[in-house]
Parts: sequence; structure tokens; C-alpha cells
Amino acid sequence: METQNKEAMVTLRGVNKWYGDFHVLRDIDLTVAKGERIVICGPSGSGKSTLIRCINRLEEHQQGDIIVKDTPLTNDVKHIETIRREVGMVFQHFNLFPHLTVLENCTLAQMWVRKTPKKEAEAVAMALLTRVKIQEQAKKYPGQLSGGQQQRVAIARSLCMNPEIMLFDEPTSALDPEMIKEVLDVMIELAEEGMTMMCVTHEMGFARTVADRVIFMDEGQIIEENDPETFFHHPESERTKLFLSQIL
Ligand code: ADP
Ligand code: MG
Repeated sequence: METQNKEAMVTLRGVNKWYGDFHVLRDIDLTVAKGERIVICGPSGSGKSTLIRCINRLEEHQQGDIIVKDTPLTNDVKHIETIRREVGMVFQHFNLFPHLTVLENCTLAQMWVRKTPKKEAEAVAMALLTRVKIQEQAKKYPGQLSGGQQQRVAIARSLCMNPEIMLFDEPTSALDPEMIKEVLDVMIELAEEGMTMMCVTHEMGFARTVADRVIFMDEGQIIEENDPETFFHHPESERTKLFLSQIL
């Protein structure tokens, strides 16, 4: 178990990315072990979204290595497809298909990407919708649901593909306060079940509860990374201290 826990799920080595002339990611080195829960925080514009979007090639990095399990992320479509099968992603604005029902949102990729027969895909979807406690809404359209419900559907939709890693990009920051908890509870449950997770979030309660490591980014760099206790109570860099003083 010990060695299994140390298996690297995501490795970034010397990753650099530019948007035109703008150097958005600078020499990122990061290894995420199987079952590890990482929280990434930092000021707006520091490159957090770009970093996690590079991991499943929603953005392309220009320098360095990104390896997911054993697959290097290259321009080879086979590699990209393999990696996307392993990696689930949940966005700030849910990104559900508005013209499909909740159930159809959850079966679409299973049927088209995995070639799972419809009945089977629906069974998987209903099991996961039940897990996020939204099975009663399966026949509704996203627009008929609250933000918290839509985000839980988005999480269930990702889980339908049976990913090994889940990436979250500020999953609760578009939600009304009373809906944040229902989404965080789902994420906490996932963490407790051993899912490997990289979460961009400023929910510091969540970070304290589930993170094995908190990473602080600023201006495209990882400035500091530590266990939550050290990170929150004994931050090392002045930039981290300033950031924490603004959000806590
Ligand atoms: P964060 O998620 O930490 O707020 P982002 O990764 O979204 O930061 O963005 C980092 C920086 O890169 C910001 O200055 C942003 O304006 C810029 N940026 C993000 N996406 C693009 C893009 N597609 N083209 C050009 N600049 C971008
Ligand atoms: Mg962002």
C-alpha cells in the first residue's frame, strides 16, 4: 500500500508556457502521487487555471514534460486521448450541455468515447447521480437546476468516465454561498474514497480538511508548497503571508 501510494499520477518537470509574449507558467515542477489531494491557491491571474488546463491539454505547454501515469503529454493524439481518459475535469461554470438532460449529459461521453451501450451507460450514470444525491433530477435540463445541483451533475458526469485523477478549477466560486457546502461535501467524499485530486480553490476549510499539500502560485510560479498546517500557520514567503491575510 505504501509503495502504491507513492506511484506518481501526474508529473510536471520544468513546465513553461507562454500566451504570445506573456510567460504564464514558469519552471513548474510538481509530482502528484496516487491518492494525493492537492489544493492550488494564489491570486487571480497567477496561472492556476492554465496549470491544470495544461494537464489534459485544454492548453498546450511549450517547454518541459507533463506525464500522466505513464503517458507523456505530446502532440500525438493517441497520448492526448489516453490522458483525457484518465483525467476528469470540473469547471467553475459547470459546462454542462444545456440542450441535454442531466442523464444525457452523463451518458454522452460514455457512449461516444467508451462505446458503452446506452442501457449500461445509463446504469452507470444513475449510480453516480445517486452518489451525488441528484438522481431525482435525471430527466431535467441543466437550466432547471440550481448552481449547486448543476455542479454536482458535472462531478457525476466526470466520474462516469471512471477517471484516475480529478481536476477541479474553482468549482464553488460561481455558487451562491448556501450551495457551496453541498458541492464541497461531494468533493470531500471523493477525497475520502482515495481519488487523486488537484483542486484550484480558495475554500480554505476544504484545504484544511482534505489537502495533503497546499500549493501557492504567484506570477506563474510555485512559490510555496506545504502541508495545510504549516501552510496556514507558518507560511514561509512574504507573498503567501500577504495572500493569506487577504483571504482568511
Ligand atoms: P488564474 O486561474 O490563476 O486566475 P489564469 O491561468 O486563468 O490564472 O491566467 C493567468 C494569466 O494568463 C492571466 O494574466 C490571464 O489574463 C492570462 N491568460 C489566461 N488565458 C489566456 C489566453 N487564452 N490568452 C492570453 N492570456 C491568457
Ligand atoms: Mg482561474
